[in-house]
Amino acid sequence: MNLQSSSDQPVVLGVDNIVADYNGKTAVDGVGFTIHAGEFVTLLGPSGCGKTTTLRCVAGLHRISKGAIHIDGRLVADQRTHVRPEKRGLNMVFQSYALWPHMTVFQNVAYGLRAQRVPKSEIRGRVEEMLDLVGLGGYGPRGVSELSGGQQQRVVLARGLATRPRLLLLDEPLSNLDSELRARMRAEIHSLQRELGLTALYVTHDRTEALALSDRVIVMRAGTIQQEGSPGELYDAPANRFVAEALGPVNVVPAVVISAGATPAARLQLEGAPVVAIASGADDVPAVGTGIEVLIRPESITLASAGESHEARFDVDVAVVEFLGNRTELAGESAGVRVKADLDLRATNLRPGDRTALRLRLDQLLAPLAWQPVTSK
Ligand code: ATP
Repeated sequence: MNLQSSSDQPVVLGVDNIVADYNGKTAVDGVGFTIHAGEFVTLLGPSGCGKTTTLRCVAGLHRISKGAIHIDGRLVADQRTHVRPEKRGLNMVFQSYALWPHMTVFQNVAYGLRAQRVPKSEIRGRVEEMLDLVGLGGYGPRGVSELSGGQQQRVVLARGLATRPRLLLLDEPLSNLDSELRARMRAEIHSLQRELGLTALYVTHDRTEALALSDRVIVMRAGTIQQEGSPGELYDAPANRFVAEALGPVNVVPAVVISAGATPAARLQLEGAPVVAIASGADDVPAVGTGIEVLIRPESITLASAGESHEARFDVDVAVVEFLGNRTELAGESAGVRVKADLDLRATNLRPGDRTALRLRLDQLLAPLAWQPVTSK
């Protein structure tokens, strides 16, 4: 993210309440957002939620039936207008955006630069730089058909980045890569974005990519936007359970409000467990007796110290313990409620079948996470 606030920058993309369908079946239903120069914005959501269709509408590959799209202040699409893709000044890195099979890797990456009439002397350097970046240094003379699927995808990425477009559209560009290369490319895209001040609209169903790369994430579901915000805002203050789960693992624990006073703000009886949790700072505490779901991140649960008496302490029957180096993941059950905890202690000596005491980190139960009426999903 640029040091200067992104909202000081000009709007590069304006998507205004667009609707798009396939043969009368709505795929995108009133989606609107803006992207400022230098911003990296991600559409995140499960398969079929309309991410790709939104991107295709921006690219000009799909017509919208309502709303409008502006690029650099110019109307490129509304009910009557449809500016052709090549006239929109964008570049696309689509998973399925084919390379030219009869050309070499070099020619594929150089294609857009030639079209832009970049001097020949500069093209070689720029192409080699991009190929190095995607880990294909020295592959220039090869035919693209000689490459593996993952290598071809990296050529597509290099081709998209080479022209340094005003707005780059990326649709799951890392999906065919193995996990090590994916992590490396993710870091490369991130540093490139900062260096070049790249403005990008990125589509993924991978929350790690969304969290790592984005200035802003837009969570989509069934053709609509559920919430948009910085990765931190969405992670810490999701508007609902869907957004909470889209951003990371979360425990969903049934509870009943047993008091809703001012100090502490409220007490919750977690179902099946003799746990009373206090959630303070919430301004919309439901009435006493209301059944709610408490959303708790696994890292907000910790081991209870021996002999510690704590309101938010509960016993769990351990089912799975996974040591992951920097933390230990525990999964178990507490009186019928499944619980996942990220424990920061390395050696817990816990084994499946053990019974142990955990407790909630009450300071980490953020108000919006704690107050979800049961009907929210
Ligand atoms: P994915 O991650 O699987 O690509 P997505 O979030 O990008 O999913 P879209 O591809 O935009 O979702 O699809 C949105 C809806 O439109 C889905 O219900 C899908 O079945 C439908 N759809 C997508 N492409 C077509 C098509 N060519 N013809 C008919 N329906 C389509």
